[in-house]
Amino acid sequence: MKQRVCNFSAGPATLPFEVLTRTAEDIVDFNGSGIGLMEMSHRSPEFQKVIDETENLLRELMQIPDNYKVLFLQGGASSQFFMVPMNLLGEGRKASYLNTGTWAKKAIAEARLFGDIEVPFSSEEQNYYRVPDQQEYQVAENSEYLYLVSNNTIFGTQFKTFPDTDKMLVSDMSSDILSRPVDVSRFGLIFAGAQKNLGPAGVTVVVIREDLLSRSADNIPTMLKYRTHAEKGSMFNTPPCIAIYVVYRVLKWLKGLGGVEEIQKINLKKADTLYQIIDQGDYYRGHADRNSRSQMNVAFNLPTPDLETKFISEAATQGLKGLKGHRSIGGCRASIYNAFSLEGVDKLAAFMERFATDNPA
Ligand SMILES: *Cc1c(COP(=O)(O)O)cnc(C)c1O
Repeated sequence: MKQRVCNFSAGPATLPFEVLTRTAEDIVDFNGSGIGLMEMSHRSPEFQKVIDETENLLRELMQIPDNYKVLFLQGGASSQFFMVPMNLLGEGRKASYLNTGTWAKKAIAEARLFGDIEVPFSSEEQNYYRVPDQQEYQVAENSEYLYLVSNNTIFGTQFKTFPDTDKMLVSDMSSDILSRPVDVSRFGLIFAGAQKNLGPAGVTVVVIREDLLSRSADNIPTMLKYRTHAEKGSMFNTPPCIAIYVVYRVLKWLKGLGGVEEIQKINLKKADTLYQIIDQGDYYRGHADRNSRSQMNVAFNLPTPDLETKFISEAATQGLKGLKGHRSIGGCRASIYNAFSLEGVDKLAAFMERFATDNPA
């Protein structure tokens, strides 16, 4: 095999090597059963064990309280943009959304199909360079929930703390789930597409407080009702078996590392390393306001677009790939999720220093 590169892709993103090699073996012959992972019935005891253990590991790592259900759904995080309001709102009901990036904006547009949506804060006019302090906005009394995207993947901003409010919180944690401890009990619902921090594309994890399951109106299609999946242990229909299996392996890997508190320390160190380079001169400019900086996605610019192009292509020749920023903001972005190594970050930091010296503005 050609040597693996440092893959800074925002998603699907790099996975732990040991997870990939183990999965490769199990695709051909699952646990010595003579049947490959993709060929096995989802009703088999072998797969039942996989999905049960995946749920148990997630419960343990996230410390999910007993009165929450864990669901493994399909349709990507984007399907949650409509499933959340479809199930939790209804005629004339209101919810509040913080507009802190592209994924928040898309969720707002979908929610408006189902209820009265207010947006008490938006940083859209300033190209989403920050997330708000709680003092900056007020949530309507009659709002059912406050929705926020915990980490804004494209703009590289992240909520350091969650609003301290008696409103139920709902959060899209697609790009920072399990990167730091979170008090699940403050949320009514948390969801995350797997392909950033949990595994491959194809499965979306939903953590939902049990009492909310009874809220869904009867005329919601069966597959789009949380209750359906909760009652059937995410096996109402064929689940994305292989994606769930990889999540299982990633969770085992994370537990082996010491869990969420340990990975948070490593994540902090990785992000600090890059932000220090950005802060040490005028050459690199971070997109995010300092107080809103993401530990998962570091978005930055160079003095000119030409230098950015050169930076991205030279980095690629050094085995540092996937550094191009999202098309909506341009520039560069280093996505450094849980599975991205500290050594890879150190390599990028060294390259950034060298590049700035060799290519004065
Ligand atoms: C990537 C991403 C999404 C979209 O995920 P899909 O699974 O492609 O629908 C939604 N929200 C956030 C925060 C993301 O990073």
